[in-house]
Parts: sequence; structure tokens; C-alpha cells
Amino acid sequence: MVHLAVPNLCGNEKKYLDDCIDTTFVSSVGEYVNKFEDMVAEATDSIRAVATCSGTTGLHVALTAVGVKYNDLVIVPTFTFIASANAIKHCGAEPWLMDIAADDWCLNPRLVREEIENCCERRSDGELYHKDTNQRVAAIMPVYTLGNIPNMEEFKKLAEDLGIPLVADAACAIGATYRDTKWNDVQFGSLADLSVLSFNGNKTITCGGGGAVVGVEESFLEHVHHLTTTARVWPDYDFDEVGFNYRMTNIQAAVGVAQMERLDSFIDVKRRVRKYYEENLCILRKKGIDFFPTTDGSSCWFSGIVLPKGTVLKEAKAICARLKEDGIETRTFWKPVHLQKPYKDCSMSDVSVSEDLWQRIITLPCSTNITEEEMRKVVHSVTGVFE
Ligand SMILES: *Cc1c(COP(=O)(O)O)cnc(C)c1O
Repeated sequence: MVHLAVPNLCGNEKKYLDDCIDTTFVSSVGEYVNKFEDMVAEATDSIRAVATCSGTTGLHVALTAVGVKYNDLVIVPTFTFIASANAIKHCGAEPWLMDIAADDWCLNPRLVREEIENCCERRSDGELYHKDTNQRVAAIMPVYTLGNIPNMEEFKKLAEDLGIPLVADAACAIGATYRDTKWNDVQFGSLADLSVLSFNGNKTITCGGGGAVVGVEESFLEHVHHLTTTARVWPDYDFDEVGFNYRMTNIQAAVGVAQMERLDSFIDVKRRVRKYYEENLCILRKKGIDFFPTTDGSSCWFSGIVLPKGTVLKEAKAICARLKEDGIETRTFWKPVHLQKPYKDCSMSDVSVSEDLWQRIITLPCSTNITEEEMRKVVHSVTGVFE
């Protein structure tokens, strides 16, 4: 079977894990956690990274640190992994679901501005409120879908104009860079007030499970760190707010350090796989099939094809089933948040781009240890399905 995306663990992972056992540093204190944070900070050009036990918990503390509270609204794309919305709910707040742009599958900044202009007003406490629901708009959360970074200068301007924070869900974006309007390629640590990564098993870099919050504002990051470690004020059992037990363990970080040592080569493979499929399956364009969008500097977390307009999920799944018979593991992709049971009554914008898109996506094998022969096999089978 050519698998969809399996962890690539043939570097120093085992050695560093042995070291955790030998030294007994298996919990949330240890040199690997610190080392991992330094590596993630450097890779994202952040002043600091705070390692967490998952991407979801990282999002939860990041939102908490920028002041998201009970009954607030947080703007988030409906086309995302459900964890983005869950983290908002974990704060007691609610997602305000908006549509993506077709060219990068990320939250559409123009739509966000329009929606806010149409639906919100500034009230006497100086805060921005949704006129119909009377909820405060507390943050905007763009998602770096597939490792694509949307126009963050536009989001930054919007956030500054409105005086609300930006928290980026960069869960699947390790290794991505952003090309700004002056044509500089920058790492994403400075693009939002806080950005959150995931190191779950299906991400480009994995710790088994894990996450990190990065940024360039020390006060936010210090608060995030404090919140992840039960808000304890050492040396005694004093706690100055309701904190969380969200810190990454040294065991997770040991795997993470070994993975980060190979970040450049992993990103290289991800980008090559994407290019290989696009070049070798280009004949399918004649049948109305397209490929995943990429922004300049995308880390190409997943690669795959987009079936013709009008295709429904059942048809996409039938294609996955046929490929499975050939020994190729593929999958459909995110079902929008507004179609999920816990979120069906959320405030939302027009979401026609997400509705049109989500049933037509098939992800293709893109593990970082995929071989040329396996990619050839994928191309052969996928071509065969559409003949
Ligand atoms: C993976 C992912 C998450 C969740 O991360 P976990 O580490 O699994 O909690 C959140 N948002 C997006 C966009 C993701 O891809």
C-alpha cells in the first residue's frame, strides 16, 4: 500500500527517546522541550516558541492570551479542520464562520472586511459588536490551509483598523514562507499576534502529538507559557489565574527535535511531490480536473486533485475506493465547519466557495519518505481511473 501520509522517523528519534528514558526526563521539564522551542522559534523567525501538548490546546491558550472570553465571536474560515472551531468553543466563545478564497483556500480578507462593515458597530465601551447577536468580535483567525499563507498584510491592516487581535492557525504550515508585497520572503512568526502550529502524526513534522505557539510579542508569549503550566507562580503552590496543563512533554519534544533536524529536506520533498503530481497528471486538466492551489512559499503539506465542478462527495469517495484496490491510499478532505453538527447554528457569511469545493477534493500520497516509484504508481493509477 502506498500510504497517504505516514511519519518519517528514521533520524535521531529513537536515540533521543532513549536519552529521555536514561535520564528519567520524561515529563514536561527537560532539555528537549527547550531545544524544540528554540528550533521552532528559529524556523518561524519568532522571538520565542511555547510548546504545547497539541495544536488544539495551543489555539486555546493563544486565544485566551489575546483576550477571547465567554460569548465573544472569533472570525474563522468554515473550510478548516474542526479543531480551529473547537478551540474557540473551548474559550466559551463562538466561531463566526466565513468563506475562503478559491485561489488559496484560505479565509478571504476582503469578505471579512465587508462582513464586519455590514454586520458590526462600535459601542460605547470601545469594542466592536455584531449588531444582531450583540456579541463582541474578539479576534480574527486565518488558517494557513495546506501551508498556504493568505494576504496577511491585508489581515494585519484590517486587524489594526479594528483594534482586534490576529491569531493564525498555522497548524499545518511548518516550513511555509510568506511573500510580502515588497517581494520579501519571510517566515510567518511575525505575521499575526500569535501563530499556532501542530505536530500531530499527520503533519509534516510530528512529535506524535504536540503544538507550539509562536510570535514576536514577548508579553503574549510569556502569558501563553504561564497559562500552559497551570499559571503557577513558583516556588510554592501559588496560582494567579485559571491555567491549563497544556505543556509538551520531553518525550514528545525528543521526537520533535529529531524531526526538526530534517525540516528542510521534509519541505523539499513535500514541494517536489506536489510538483510531480501536477506535471505528471496534467493530462487530467482536459477532463476538468485541477490541482491544489499554492501560494509563493507554500509548504505544500498535502497534495492532490480537485474534481470537476458539480462532483459530489459520494463520487469522490468512489474514486478513493477504486484507488485503494490499486494499493493507493487517498482521502477526501475537510468538511466545512458549518456542516458539522455542533456548529450548524453559528453566525456565518455566504460560504459558496467552500460549499462548491469541499466535496471535490482528493488528497494523494505525500509522505516525506515516498519514493519515485511510489509516485509513479500513484500517477499510473489515478490516470487509469479517469480513462
Ligand atoms: C491539525 C490541525 C489542527 C489541530 O492540531 P492537533 O495537534 O491535532 O490538535 C488545527 N487546525 C488545523 C488547520 C490543522 O490542520
